[in-house]
This record gives sequence, C-alpha cells and structure tokens, in this order.
Amino acid sequence: MLGNKYGTHRVLEPKGVLPQPALRIDNNMDVLYDNEILVDVSMLNIDAASFTQIKKEVGADEEKVANKIMEIVGKRGKMHNPITGSGGMLIGKISKIGKALEGKVKVNVGDEIATLVSLSLTPLKIERIKKVHLNTDQVEVKAKAIIFESGVYAKLPSNMDRKLALAILDVAGAPAQTARLVKPGDKVVIIGASGKSGTLCSYVAKKYAGVTGKVIALVHSKERAKHLEKLGITNIAEVDATDAIEVESIVSKFTNGEMADVTINVVNVPNTEMASILATKNYGIVYFFSMATSFTKAALGAEGVGKDVNMIIGNGYMTGHAEIALETVRESEKIRGIFESLYVN
Ligand code: NAP
Repeated sequence: MLGNKYGTHRVLEPKGVLPQPALRIDNNMDVLYDNEILVDVSMLNIDAASFTQIKKEVGADEEKVANKIMEIVGKRGKMHNPITGSGGMLIGKISKIGKALEGKVKVNVGDEIATLVSLSLTPLKIERIKKVHLNTDQVEVKAKAIIFESGVYAKLPSNMDRKLALAILDVAGAPAQTARLVKPGDKVVIIGASGKSGTLCSYVAKKYAGVTGKVIALVHSKERAKHLEKLGITNIAEVDATDAIEVESIVSKFTNGEMADVTINVVNVPNTEMASILATKNYGIVYFFSMATSFTKAALGAEGVGKDVNMIIGNGYMTGHAEIALETVRESEKIRGIFESLYVN
C-alpha cells in the first residue's frame, strides 16, 4: 500500500492539508505504508523557540516539560507546538524500510539517523520520556516515528558524539545560509549570537566577511557569551533584542552610522523583527532564522519605518546544509570544543 510521498495519507484534521500545518496526524505505528520508513527514536531535539515557550508556560521543571510534550504529541500525533507552530528533529535507528523504498534509499535497517525535516510534520508515538535536558532542549525518549518518502535525513557521523551531531544538525540551515549570504567586507549583525545557531553563524560570518568585514554579536547576556571571544568575535554588545531602538543605536555606533549589510536573527523569543530591520541598511539583507518570527510584524514593520530591506525566511532546508554544518564544527577545534562543552553532557 503506497502513501502520498508528502504524507497527506496520514493527515486526520483538517483533511486536504499537508502534514506540517495539520492539527492532527495518524501516528499509528502498527501500519507502515510501503513508501514510509519506521524509526526507533532515542532522542528528540525540541526546537528552541518551542522549548523556551513550553518552559515559560509550565516552568523549567523536567517532569512538567515532559508532561507537556506528552500532551502535545498525544493530541497531535506529532511534536507540533500549538503556540510557536515549530517542532525540532530527532535521532534514532531505522527499524523498517517500506517495500517500495528498499534499495532506493541510501540507508539500511539499523543505521542511526537524524531527521532533517521538522518534528512538526513527523508522525511520532512516545512510549516513555526518560530524561529532559532543560539546558540543551534535548529529550531522551523511547518512541517510534515515521519518515515519509519526501523526508530528508542524514546518517549520523560515526566519528562524532550523537548529542553533538544532534545539536549541530538541528540548526544546520543557519550556518549554511550564512555562508551563502555573507560577502567579503560585509558588516554582519547577529542577534542572539551566543545561542546554538548564533555561535555557528558568528563563526561562519567572521570567516566569510574576512579581515575587511565586521561581525557584531548582539547577546542577551555577556556572561553567557564568553565562548564567542574564543572564536575571535570582539564586537559584542549586551542588549534585549525586543528593544529595537536600543539595538539600532548600538549597531549605529559599531558601524559609524552605516548599519549592517546582513542581519541574522537567531533568537528564541518573539518581537525582535523591528530590531533586525532597524539594524540593517537600505538594500541590505535580514535573514530571519528564528521560529518566533512573525511575517506580519516583519512586513508591516519594515513598511512602517520606510526600510527597503530584503527579508529572507530561514528555510530549514538548504542543499548540502547537513554536511556544511557538520564540517563547520569539524574544521575548527575551537568551535568543536565550545559545542562539546555546551551540548554534550
Ligand atoms: P538557542 O540556542 O536557544 O539561542 C537563542 C539565543 O537567543 C540565546 O543566545 C538567547 O540568549 C538569545 N535571546 C533570547 N532572548 C533574547 C533577547 N530578548 N534579546 C537578545 N537575545 C535573546 O536557539 P537555537 O537553537 O540557536 O535556535 C535559534 C532560533 O532558530 C530559534 O528561534 C529556533 O526556533 C530557530 N530555528 C529555526 C529553524 C529553521 O528551520 N528556520 C531550525 C531550527 C531552529 P540567552 O540564552 O542568554 O537568553
């Protein structure tokens, strides 16, 4: 029995939509369509905007967060946060490959993989949550998941810790897109620079902007941004990114009023669209990777202040993004050390 390649055969509500925007999908793991892959899931990496929202709603308590995750997956058949709309990704071992995919996919039963499509569209059934890691957004589980025919996934590298690979692959689109956007000599502002994607983007932006460029790292707390100095990032300012006027003033000082050629937004909280827009020069680029970004706030906000900026939605997928992100961490001992200390415990 063949399912739809995008997974619409598992959509229960509302009928006719794709699995990502669906409110409820079928997570019955006893039936495997011939073009699906079944995965024994060991760990979830909840999207940072979603995890932050859940911790805010129920409190930073392992049991309460676990209960909320069970509740969401119970209702939706997938880890699709109803407030942020975002998901995350998972790692697990392939336990079955549908007949129609046998020999056509580059993985075998038993291979350990990370999904590169969002948990917000991935059928998931959690038997048990073993441990919630409140500081890394990672959740150890005994669960099963389905990958659709159109799904994207990567074999976990054998020479890298699983938690490290999971942390990097969760935000793989951000460093890859940064490498595409930043040119030599650019002034690049990174909002939320001390976070997971922020750290990767800062490193990549510095590499591509080169000695004639400038990377300006805006962080919530300088204390939590010490690792950026180890990467040679020296222009660091502490600011609440929801304060657009303050952000504009700081970026203006760093750039002698010129403002940024490229602004990269990697925060995990809402209401930072205007800071990103005001930080950027006319005809510059704003790259919204944050899942807390509102299209309406960005579009109407830019219009409201008369800013002619090109705004890019952070597509989680980009050709070669997994390899680029993993290589970014492999090529530098410094960034690998930072990631190991922050995300492997
Ligand atoms: P993260 O590690 O949690 O980093 C978020 C950063 O934002 C932290 O450094 C945090 O600083 C900072 N921050 C929070 N509130 C702030 C404020 N008011 N002002 C300034 N900085 C603030 O998150 P991540 O895993 O890198 O993810 C970043 C964003 O990308 C999230 O929104 C996530 O949902 C999104 N994402 C998008 C995709 C995609 O496909 N587009 C994929 C994965 C993730 P403190 O910790 O010091 O507060």
